[in-house]
Amino acid sequence: MSKSGAEVDYRKVGLRVGLEIHVQLDTREKLFCNCPTKLVEEEGDVFTRELRPARSEMGEVDPAAVLEWKKGRRFRYSSPRESSCLVEADEEPPHSMNMEALKIALAVALSLNMKIVDEVYTMRKIVIDGSNVSGFQRTSLIALNGWLEDEEGRIGIQTLCLEEDAARKISESEFEVHYKLDRMGIPLIEIATAPDIHSPEQARRVAFKIGQLVRLTGKAKRGLGSIRQDVNVSIEGGGKVEIKGIQHLYLIPKVIEYEVLRQTRLLWLRDELARRGLAKESIRVEPVDLTEFFKNTQSKLIKKILSEKDAVVYALKLEGFKGLLGLELQPGRRFGTELADYARVWAGVGGLIHSDELPGYGISSGEVAEIYKRLGGNPERDAFVIVAGERGKVQKAVEVIVERVRAAFDGVPEETRGANPDGTTRYMRPRPGRARMYPETDIPPILITNELIESAKKLVPEPLDVKLKRLTSEHGLSRDLALNLINDIRLDLYEKLAEKWKGKIPPVVIASTIVNTLKMLENEGVHVENIEDEHIEKVIEYVAEGRLAKEAIPDVLRKIAERPTSKIEEILEEMGLRKASESEVVEVVNKVIEENIEKLRSKPGKAFNIVMSEAMKILRGRVDGSLVADIVKKKLSELNIT
Ligand SMILES: [Zn+2]
Repeated sequence: MSKSGAEVDYRKVGLRVGLEIHVQLDTREKLFCNCPTKLVEEEGDVFTRELRPARSEMGEVDPAAVLEWKKGRRFRYSSPRESSCLVEADEEPPHSMNMEALKIALAVALSLNMKIVDEVYTMRKIVIDGSNVSGFQRTSLIALNGWLEDEEGRIGIQTLCLEEDAARKISESEFEVHYKLDRMGIPLIEIATAPDIHSPEQARRVAFKIGQLVRLTGKAKRGLGSIRQDVNVSIEGGGKVEIKGIQHLYLIPKVIEYEVLRQTRLLWLRDELARRGLAKESIRVEPVDLTEFFKNTQSKLIKKILSEKDAVVYALKLEGFKGLLGLELQPGRRFGTELADYARVWAGVGGLIHSDELPGYGISSGEVAEIYKRLGGNPERDAFVIVAGERGKVQKAVEVIVERVRAAFDGVPEETRGANPDGTTRYMRPRPGRARMYPETDIPPILITNELIESAKKLVPEPLDVKLKRLTSEHGLSRDLALNLINDIRLDLYEKLAEKWKGKIPPVVIASTIVNTLKMLENEGVHVENIEDEHIEKVIEYVAEGRLAKEAIPDVLRKIAERPTSKIEEILEEMGLRKASESEVVEVVNKVIEENIEKLRSKPGKAFNIVMSEAMKILRGRVDGSLVADIVKKKLSELNIT
């Protein structure tokens, strides 16, 4: 068994990775109504819904849906007026599809060499976690079967769909989930690659390329949460595991490394069970009730649980499993952790302890020996789990634990997992069944005409090699800077700012801020992740307007990173970079003239330069030089010094 992911030969283990990338579009309106696509502070009216029984038209029941239904939670929705209407609240049928969004999707499909459908049909995809008020999400297949060039080989692009974003989760408890409807209905492009990716680093690169491509239409939303990445990971002999909600690009390789590690070890576990001569059937739902036994325990954890109403402690023997519950699958996550995940997700039980971590949690070695005795187990050979909590939940937990332990005999169960911030993953739910879609009858199909394709072509981003040439020839960037910019996540921000401040600020200042300044600050240990696009936009604006010297950019950004919650205007003011008012400029100019009046009268030809240079020393970085020049000229002519 390898000790860490770093030693793994990914080709050898047969790693196959597919990506699913969701990018929010920055359209004027939502996908199926006229609300703006922005998140707002306003809470708005609140209403609640119970979960509807989820069933497809075929009558099939989705295992993921059953799981949600069993949680029996209520959903509360905030519907801010600014950013939601009756469509999001499911009180009014959807309007026809937003053509702006459709054109962007078509443009992306074209640049991914995809085959575009003749007619766009909108489907309903069942979602049961309450994130859509109606209980389904609308999704439309736009194109299929394309490809993307990558250094390690061509990557197939299977599908591109246009779909509505789900509601935004505000909070969650055992009984209720609170959502806000402002995010719901924002158009999303969902791009799924074929499982053609063979290394963790390649996955990161391909995800970046796809994101960059959408961003370069100039129509992608920016910032945290605007791109969401899911990965499908499998290795030879393993199972297809879907990992959801990877927020940062840099986490993708880590998540895949850890998943390969987990699957490798689960396969080792499967083989070890065979080596030990164990059989799936020997794992039975036969818990022993130890509630009475634990009445006098010193374990604070167990005591606390037992103080709750109708609480029980069950123990379950796992024959021949000695040492295997403590098997580490990912850093800090053991096979026992997987069992605990199942108990938590399916039964809402938080308290699971296994024999490989005992004595511990205040449970003594004497108690451990007694538990073995009561279970009829052999301490040298067998293992057990202890589950504590409310009776009904504990009974359910024991069932799902047995189910998970039995699955270990087959290797890697196919499941959907959630990414943790450190790159490890936790069990979320079974992989959804196929019976999740049915036609949306409220929205007529849209014929893809040549006209539509032609107008979409105008949005297709220029190829990167063409862009590189333009950045060096037209924008005057060095080849190195241009190349770095092309591989920067803020390339589209650069394009936007370079266009906006054309003629006011050299493109190299913008490019260098994005590429070099941020990197320099990062190397200094500055928390550059606190620097948002809006900050950069503001700083560039100040430079373009002559209110800030370009030399001051690093200082301002450093301050912003140190105090991410402060307003940029406040920071600039504190740094003495507040924009000077016209009257302040007049005051400064008057003062300079007064102090130098003798010299000015004796050298009228140099008067303008003298006053300008003295005034700018005082006002530097806070004012546009041309404003000062105008005032100086006016004052000098009033005094007849010309
Ligand atoms: Zn709306």
